[in-house]
Amino acid sequence: MRTRLVVGNWKMNFTEAEATAAVQSFIKMVSAKSTVDVVVCPPATCIHSVRELVKDTHVKVGAQDVFWEDAGAFTGRISPRMLDDAGVTHCIVGHSETRGRFGKLEVPASTVSTFVETNETINLKLKALLFHALIPILCVGETTEERKEGFTEAVIREQLAGALAGIDASELYFFVVAYEPVWAIGTGNTCEPEEAGRVCRFVSSVLAELLDADVAENIRVLYGGSVRAANAGDLFQQDGIDGGLVGGASLDPLEFSRIVMSA
Ligand code: PEP
Repeated sequence: MRTRLVVGNWKMNFTEAEATAAVQSFIKMVSAKSTVDVVVCPPATCIHSVRELVKDTHVKVGAQDVFWEDAGAFTGRISPRMLDDAGVTHCIVGHSETRGRFGKLEVPASTVSTFVETNETINLKLKALLFHALIPILCVGETTEERKEGFTEAVIREQLAGALAGIDASELYFFVVAYEPVWAIGTGNTCEPEEAGRVCRFVSSVLAELLDADVAENIRVLYGGSVRAANAGDLFQQDGIDGGLVGGASLDPLEFSRIVMSA
């Protein structure tokens, strides 16, 4: 059985003082559950302090996004080399919010086109992370319309194939994929556990086709989309789900600890 993994995505939340308070209140409980791998992904401004707070525990620090070049004239971007230097071990790539595919639109619709991410940029980011031995957490998932039209599997297959183009299976031993239906992110509409398990198993089967069955066997597939302490147990019990990518609920230290306990 693959080791369970719970990843907290704090998104654009928490000042340094708030991040410190959150870690201080969950770290004791979460670090006691050493059989579950745990990664927290704070905003870049808090990476340093969070890393200091978790350094004597098994909890790791991840980033929420990355650029693919090591250095250069790319105002506002953060490189994998910088993340490595900051002590980051994991990085989310291709989150639906960076792809401009929002479950719950909280920005003016006219600005959505500024959130641009393509399979090609995701592929460049994955290659750059792997070059620096950072572990990518690749997000894939369909919108409500795509699901209604029966395109869930086709969308996921295309996202995986595009992201992994030209990457050798041997580089992907620690790779993580999160199945995140866009319609479930930040909406409170969790995917039914059986359906989430079915799609996560589908993700593993596509990875086996695209890569190699032995490598795919080791790749953890998480479910993400309105995971809460109340539904985590049912989701994590499903065959094919190796843990969760948790957004909103990871901001509440007690809720996040309970989710880790359920894994
Ligand atoms: C996420 O941001 O990846 C996520 C799953 O968010 P939420 O848990 O808030 O739906």
